[in-house]
Amino acid sequence: MKLCRYCNAELPSWYAKNKWYHNEEDKECRRLSKMKTSSSFYESIKESNNVLNDDIIISKLAAQNGLNIFIDCDIPTSMGFTWKSYTKTENKEGVTIYHLPSYSYELFADRKIKIYKK
Ligand SMILES: [Zn+2]
Repeated sequence: MKLCRYCNAELPSWYAKNKWYHNEEDKECRRLSKMKTSSSFYESIKESNNVLNDDIIISKLAAQNGLNIFIDCDIPTSMGFTWKSYTKTENKEGVTIYHLPSYSYELFADRKIKIYKK
């Protein structure tokens, strides 16, 4: 007994030995679902690279300016900061705190941030 590689249902016993799907549609669905898996895997790697990249930029800013002071958003932006990658966010009295692996930062409405070491 042989199972279809897409839908997992049994394939007719008279199917050729090298036939692994019920039909072309099952074959195509399997191909597309594999592609989706690999692209979401790629996205997750890209996302963790962004998080690390942003963490490095924040650590440079902290070394240059110190912690817990206001820094204009244009500065990290000019260094390639993505603004969309973080490990988690948190809301403290209406201000959003973005967490990175070694630092976190508060983003204020007037386009300024404050950096904290974790
Ligand atoms: Zn099938």
